[in-house]
Amino acid sequence: NDIQVLLICGGGGSEHDVSLRTADFIQRELAKSPGIQLTRVTMDSAGRLQDAEGTLRELRSDKLLYSASGAAQPVDYVIPAIHGYPGETGDLQSQLEILGLPYYGCGPEASKICFNKITTKLWLSALGIDNTPYQFLCANTAEETAKARDALKLWGEVFVKASSQGSSVGCYKVSDEAALESALQEAFTLSPYVLVEKCLKVRELEVAAYTYEGELVITAPGEVCAPSDTFYSYDEKYAEGSRALTHVVAEGLSEAQLGWIDAASRRAFVGLQLEDLSRIDFFLTESGEIYLNEVNTFPGMTPISMFPKMLQNHGHDFCAYLTALIRRAV
Ligand code: ATP
Ligand code: MG
Ligand code: MG
Ligand code: MG
Repeated sequence: NDIQVLLICGGGGSEHDVSLRTADFIQRELAKSPGIQLTRVTMDSAGRLQDAEGTLRELRSDKLLYSASGAAQPVDYVIPAIHGYPGETGDLQSQLEILGLPYYGCGPEASKICFNKITTKLWLSALGIDNTPYQFLCANTAEETAKARDALKLWGEVFVKASSQGSSVGCYKVSDEAALESALQEAFTLSPYVLVEKCLKVRELEVAAYTYEGELVITAPGEVCAPSDTFYSYDEKYAEGSRALTHVVAEGLSEAQLGWIDAASRRAFVGLQLEDLSRIDFFLTESGEIYLNEVNTFPGMTPISMFPKMLQNHGHDFCAYLTALIRRAV
């Protein structure tokens, strides 16, 4: 019997469109897998599911996917290919846990912790993993924003970040007070918490961390290079004419640096109780310090995205990897 896989993409967050491109990739890959039947639905901002024909569908507690006509089909496994709310935030995963349906990726708790950059940092520090110095603002008040001005004075240049976003949405590079003010206002419209991080003059390294046949795999770090006048912003990731470059393997790292990144990635994956996949981002400073920046529990799989490239470069075929995870879970 074929395994019935439900691919859910879209979602109500700022990365809705990125998620559709990730779903295109997953759909193309699983089309190569005999014995797997895929149904793709897109979630709109109201949480409704629509299939390719535009028909509304509903996943109910009997693990059947219904259409408005009352017809229903079984679901054995779900791929929540959503970046941001309500997929990468763990909300959809909670629902799947309640339904008792197996799914691809991290559970609700790990998702929630990692999607919030502040809880991620608390966990990383508790695990003894160096992460970017930051100031935490818990409200958009005068007392709290005074902390941001102090951080700017101390560090000269900072990154203001909404706590719970991805694809660089809500990330602002700031080097003066006026820009700080507007960045804070915008960041607080996107998340209830805001971080002000020390801006590091850096190389940006990323690893793919995933389980293959029950074993944790950490790839060699790849590198993303944003143009020097900006950073790896949403537009440099996805817009037409992006100038960012990516290298599937970063060059010139020492054995000690590679070892540090591998060990920190393993500790993060195990300690945060990640499952199936993640992309872990690092900064390497000019003086050779390495900081873990963040953990992405459902990394992008668009044509520019690093996760599938690093997996492939490591000698793993994405279709075989995902098929094995699905067969194990079902
Ligand atoms: P994604 O999930 O797409 O990787 P994100 O929205 O979670 O992105 P970050 O990865 O934290 O956000 O930051 C986005 C980009 O901003 C980084 O890739 C980097 O180019 C830049 N950046 C973020 N924080 C810093 C920092 N402290 N110092 C220097 N650059 C930074
Ligand atoms: Mg992220
Ligand atoms: Mg992300
Ligand atoms: Mg990142």
